[in-house]
Amino acid sequence: MTFIVRMLRYLFWIVVVSWVVRLLGRLVSQMGSGASEPRPKSDAPNDAVGKKLVRDPVCGIHVSEALALQLHQGSETVYFCSPECRKQYLDSEKQFAANA
Ligand SMILES: [Zn+2]
Repeated sequence: MTFIVRMLRYLFWIVVVSWVVRLLGRLVSQMGSGASEPRPKSDAPNDAVGKKLVRDPVCGIHVSEALALQLHQGSETVYFCSPECRKQYLDSEKQFAANA
């Protein structure tokens, strides 16, 4: 009987040790992948700039900065979804200037 108990205890420790070894191996591989992680993270801001949404002040639609029509006004940049909106914006600017 004590032989079986000793055997079971032995098997139990083998299972525990193999489990701990596997867990440590996973931790080490996670740390390894964690070390290489900053590279995709440094790419993320560039990606975010490309996917940044800007608001068309004319129709209020949100457009991707990369796809939007840009209009530089001094230090400001205004974005439009279409040439029509840009034209409308410029026309209203002219009107504003005329009124002022
Ligand atoms: Zn628009």
